[in-house]
Amino acid sequence: MSGEAESHPQRILLFGGTFDPPHLAHATLPALAARQLRCDQIVYIPAAENPLKGSAKSAAAEHRLTMLVLAIADVPNAKISSIELDRKGKSYTIDTLKELHNKQGAAAAPARHSGSARQSKRTATLEPPASFFLLIGCDQALDFHRWKDWEQIVKLATPAVMVRPPWDRKSFERELRKRYLEAEAQRWLGWTLNLPLMDINATEIRKRLREGASVDGMLDPAVAEYIRSNGLYR
Ligand code: ATP
Repeated sequence: MSGEAESHPQRILLFGGTFDPPHLAHATLPALAARQLRCDQIVYIPAAENPLKGSAKSAAAEHRLTMLVLAIADVPNAKISSIELDRKGKSYTIDTLKELHNKQGAAAAPARHSGSARQSKRTATLEPPASFFLLIGCDQALDFHRWKDWEQIVKLATPAVMVRPPWDRKSFERELRKRYLEAEAQRWLGWTLNLPLMDINATEIRKRLREGASVDGMLDPAVAEYIRSNGLYR
């Protein structure tokens, strides 16, 4: 686990969330999305504090991080970035994207400095900066105009949208047209992936855990066991 990539794959799928707790949709869908988008790597980015989720307290960052490690153990080419946890406070995606773009430049620097000017120039040509995709659920897409500097966000990372219940593709399309002008709605539809619908959400999981109801089929067994042994969400 580290805050940045060791190498510089060209297409990186960024996936932010509260992961409170991380559930099976968080583990399953990004891998499918990465395949569709031909991404080399998935970077999970747990938020310190979601600016749009009000004052509701989430589980401690250490717990969410450990659960995420367990939840994505089998997800190919996935890693976790602690960039937002390290920054603390409200986690604005625009700040994260700017930091990632800067870090990428900084991480490439040693390669450029390790040799002649000619060699460094060649290295720079062979390793173009990665392109970022930003994976979000369609609930977030419908609210995207509330995100800080959203117009700049879509310039730094191309959105990739997962339709999720209660929406399906048709109702999501209708809702987009209600909320956005036609051209903008079309743009979001172009960014929408073809993925299976998974009716799982963390709010429902926390509610069930509070009530002692079953969360079978919603969580990785290792995450469920971690929650149980640490007495979370009681
Ligand atoms: P909560 O119910 O607490 O709001 P959540 O289940 O939406 O949590 P988050 O950690 O907030 O989980 O989600 C991270 C990202 O994953 C968000 O962009 C969210 O829309 C998306 N996401 C979560 N669950 C699903 C799902 N079942 N299908 C598609 N996208 C999902």
